Order: sequence, then C-alpha cells, then structure tokens
Amino acid sequence: MEFPVVSLMSVPGSIRPATWNAANWRSVAACSNMDTELFFPVGESSQVHEQIRLAKSVCAACPVREFCLEFAIRTIQNDGIWGGATEEERKIIKRSRRAAARRAVQAQLRAEANEVAQQSTEHVSMLDRTG
Ligand code: SF4
Repeated sequence: MEFPVVSLMSVPGSIRPATWNAANWRSVAACSNMDTELFFPVGESSQVHEQIRLAKSVCAACPVREFCLEFAIRTIQNDGIWGGATEEERKIIKRSRRAAARRAVQAQLRAEANEVAQQSTEHVSMLDRTG
C-alpha cells in the first residue's frame, strides 16, 4: 500500500489541516471506527499501561501502521500512540534516525577526503616522475 508521505511535507504553512484528508490512509486504518481516546492515554497508572497495550495491539494488526508512524513523525505528533509507538518511542526513533543521518554524512565526508588525498598523492607521484 502506497501513500504520498513526502508530499505531505511540501504543503506550505500549516501541515496538518491541509494534508489531514489528502491521503486516504485513515479510511483503512484498524482504528478508523474506534474511540480515539484509546490511543491517547494520560498518566502513568497500571490502567494506562493496559490502555497502551491495547492500543498497540490494534496498531500491530493495522494495514497502514508504517504510514501512520511515518506521518506522526513527519508531522510532529507529540501526543498519543501512532503506528504502534508512544511519544517516547517516536522520540527514540527520531534520535536514532538523526544519528544514522549524521553517520552517513560523516562517512560521505571521509570518503571524499580519502579520494582527495588519493588524487593528491597520485598528482605528487606524477610530478616526481616527470621531474
Ligand atoms: S497504526 Fe494504530 S493509530 Fe495508526 S492508523 Fe493504525 S490502528 Fe490507528
């Protein structure tokens, strides 16, 4: 199942009102006919933990779970359970993605620096040979 995740971010100004209904993914969501309160637990009691467990079990069987999670991350949904992840879990995912992006940039910079060093060495060797 494909939805235009990236295009959601291209709407200027307010993201959510303009795009909320643009992608029809919610119509096939496992929670589409459920009370949304289940997905917005408040507090830390054992009852809340049970609520989170129940919400996550619904998400686990949802056909648009990955899209929902991506949507929540990209549109900065700070509250509730989206795509089977709590706000804390989404923060961890975001941190992990940022770290992976930093590592990728560093690896790219190292590769480019190595290439420049290699070219420099070859150039010096050529100058030595040609005297
Ligand atoms: S992943 Fe969970 S919160 Fe998201 S649409 Fe599916 S059931 Fe609803």
